[in-house]
Amino acid sequence: MTESGPVDPDTLRLFFALWPDDATRDALNRAGKWLHQHLGGRRMRAETLHITLVFLGSTPAEQLDALTACVDAAQADAFELVLDQAGYWRHNRIGWLGASQAPPQHLELVDAVNAALQGAGFAVDARPHVPHVTLLRNSAGGEVPECMPVHWPISDFVLVASRREVDGMHYDVIRRWPLA
Ligand code: ATP
Ligand code: MG
Repeated sequence: MTESGPVDPDTLRLFFALWPDDATRDALNRAGKWLHQHLGGRRMRAETLHITLVFLGSTPAEQLDALTACVDAAQADAFELVLDQAGYWRHNRIGWLGASQAPPQHLELVDAVNAALQGAGFAVDARPHVPHVTLLRNSAGGEVPECMPVHWPISDFVLVASRREVDGMHYDVIRRWPLA
């Protein structure tokens, strides 16, 4: 028998995201426990918590180098995101934590990544960006309470590949870019 590593898939399911540091991840996870008491549903595992910046979806693995190269040119500043609003979306039964006021640097970052991708010929989602952390899935909803804000210092952003396993979705951070 020969030993081999995991087989490289031909196609990756990719998205750009904000990935929390350990302290922010703990705070988001606590917010998830708290929101779950109000809205029920299925809590997201702590290690999966993130904010999607730009969703690419199914992408040939051979495009990965071109993809990361074009984003190297995207410039944006570091900032602090204050997640001060819990919410519930009926259409997808998601309970979330978001920012009542996204700072301009956040929107500039999303624009910069989108522009870099478009410039290199990658198709991006035209829907407006709503910054949020999904905390609960399959929630029946209910009255959404006021929340304790989570202060999240953002100093980088990442490219993530998602893969479905028997125990749920797994997200692999495959590249990281610092913010100025
Ligand atoms: P599943 O779809 O199996 O429930 P998931 O949504 O966690 O799992 P993906 O569908 O791979 O996993 O999505 C990865 C991230 O991108 C998630 O944050 C998801 O909310 C977001 N996302 C998925 N599809 C889109 C889309 N069309 N536009 C914007 N964001 C998306
Ligand atoms: Mg999905």
